[in-house]
Amino acid sequence: MKKLKREDLRNIAIIAHVDHGKTTLVDEMLRQGGVFRENQVVDDRVMDSGDLERERGITILAKNTAASYHGIKINIVDTPGHADFGGEVERVLKMVNGVLLVVDAFEGPMPQTRFVLQKALEMNHKIVVVINKVDRPDARPDDVVDEVLELLLELDASEEQLDSPVVFCSARQGTASLYSREQGTDLKPLFDSIINHIDPPEGDPEAPLQVLVSSIDFNDYVGRLAIGRIENGTMRQGQEVALCDHHDPSICGKARLTAIYQFDGLGRQQVEEAKAGDIVCFSGIESVNIGNTVCAPDHVEAIPFVKISEPTMEMTFSVNNSPFAGREGKLVTSRHIRDRLQSELKKDVSLRVEDTDSTDSFRVLGRGEMHLSILIETMRREGFELQVS
Ligand code: GDP
Repeated sequence: MKKLKREDLRNIAIIAHVDHGKTTLVDEMLRQGGVFRENQVVDDRVMDSGDLERERGITILAKNTAASYHGIKINIVDTPGHADFGGEVERVLKMVNGVLLVVDAFEGPMPQTRFVLQKALEMNHKIVVVINKVDRPDARPDDVVDEVLELLLELDASEEQLDSPVVFCSARQGTASLYSREQGTDLKPLFDSIINHIDPPEGDPEAPLQVLVSSIDFNDYVGRLAIGRIENGTMRQGQEVALCDHHDPSICGKARLTAIYQFDGLGRQQVEEAKAGDIVCFSGIESVNIGNTVCAPDHVEAIPFVKISEPTMEMTFSVNNSPFAGREGKLVTSRHIRDRLQSELKKDVSLRVEDTDSTDSFRVLGRGEMHLSILIETMRREGFELQVS
């Protein structure tokens, strides 16, 4: 099979400790990459859409955005900021060829990013180090570069990874430079480092279609959406595909792709077709799940993939039957709670919900305390009232 390099494309992930400036940097890359028209109102916070995730200081959902630079499309995938959600990290990193490691020029690298960085190093991804906030009066960019190198050494980075380019940025001012003492005028040095250092994705657009599903989304209009990078072949709207899974031979089915989207700036754009290397989002397969492979019906071959971690934490969500019921929320019945949990299941594949002996209680299983407590807090804010044990 011939492997063609997609010189018009780069797929990267972004790793950063909370508050080191990931959101500001991506905003600015989209802006300078020419995604925004002059008069377009820009929502200042691109990557973190959940208020709650912000407040807790973690980003849970891997979101996709895409910038463009001199005709090259750069797909930027957010990584979860927490090791609590293993499995998700591998899935996200499998879509990309390299990562931007964003580190605050005063704080230096933080232990919380080790896990994701280690996974990226193990997958042999190229790294571009971004020392951000060099405009801070207390910035100590040269020391921070040393600390990043120490961290890479500790994590067994390869020679090549130790030799990663370092870009000094002020995301807030939209500037980048290859020198710690020079401020720069725009993000061009960052874009150039990405394009020159991170490999374009490879694949054969003529080969039979193969896409590993890395995440799932849900939309009221088109239903279940699968997101992944096309490993091989070309995907066309209306095409018949087969579904299979490396770990589960019982999964097989055929479906017709109803719509294909690519990421574009902050949104998605519908396309007629997409080919090897592209990160796509597509609808039409209601039963699709993370880890499945979507392939050509006459060439069914699953892509190997880590198993999704089993839930490790269990809680019971019940209708509040205490004397104080109804004081905190408006959505209080078991019907409300059930519907809400069902809709969460469509988006969150590592969540499980089971019925109990009582119609007023549900067993909810997730990947740890953080995972479930965020769901509970989100529901509270939406006006739900429930008891948890
Ligand atoms: P995230 O949590 O990594 O997405 O970080 P944000 O992009 O939300 O940034 C966290 C805070 O750092 C915000 O108050 C930003 O305005 C600020 N910030 C981001 N980039 C810079 C920068 O280059 N210089 C300075 N001084 N502050 C920055």
